[in-house]
Amino acid sequence: MHATDIANELAEVLHTEAELQQKLAELARQIEADYTSEPPLLVGVLKGAVMVVADLARELKFHAEMDWMAVSSYGSGTKSSGVVKILKDLDTDITDRDVLIVEDIIDSGLTLSWLKENLLSRGAKSVKICTMLRKPEALKVDIEVEYVGFDIPNQFVVGYGLDYAEKYRNLRDVAVLAPHVYS
Ligand code: 5GP
Ligand code: MG
Ligand code: MG
Repeated sequence: MHATDIANELAEVLHTEAELQQKLAELARQIEADYTSEPPLLVGVLKGAVMVVADLARELKFHAEMDWMAVSSYGSGTKSSGVVKILKDLDTDITDRDVLIVEDIIDSGLTLSWLKENLLSRGAKSVKICTMLRKPEALKVDIEVEYVGFDIPNQFVVGYGLDYAEKYRNLRDVAVLAPHVYS
């Protein structure tokens, strides 16, 4: 065992790699059934959604084009303000395209709500949302999410793309950190 083995820093695993992959396969079947004329452009939100996009795209049976955006939410510390700055924009012209935003987690929903409006204003034909995780208790806006992996309690989680101070993204499971990690 390595001295900095991630497993030592976890309090609880909420969803294992196997559960996440099983759920992604279910979501992929729904997405395939919903987009029958043309496949959507997958838009991943950096950096957290990297793992979800990689696994979802490979699970889909159609040509899954992907593009990326990086956004930052203005505001103090950990709280999302809903005012968003684009750090990296799409390379793709989405005029008349069906777009599927792929996210790691929806917390307040403020970032995604802004992003959906932004993509629609560029002339996208449709904008739907797929997220691996959602915290229903933390939602601050009414946002329609077409594809949800798991609803989770209002706890800070890491793994499967999600970070704490840029660490833990490479953990295969979704987990809650042990208290000693924060102190
Ligand atoms: P919101 O939905 O509040 O606008 O923000 C969502 C973003 O906040 C996510 O994309 C993610 O970067 C971050 N976030 C929200 N909840 C968590 C969490 O439990 N763990 C981690 N690591 N990031 C979170
Ligand atoms: Mg995210
Ligand atoms: Mg983060």
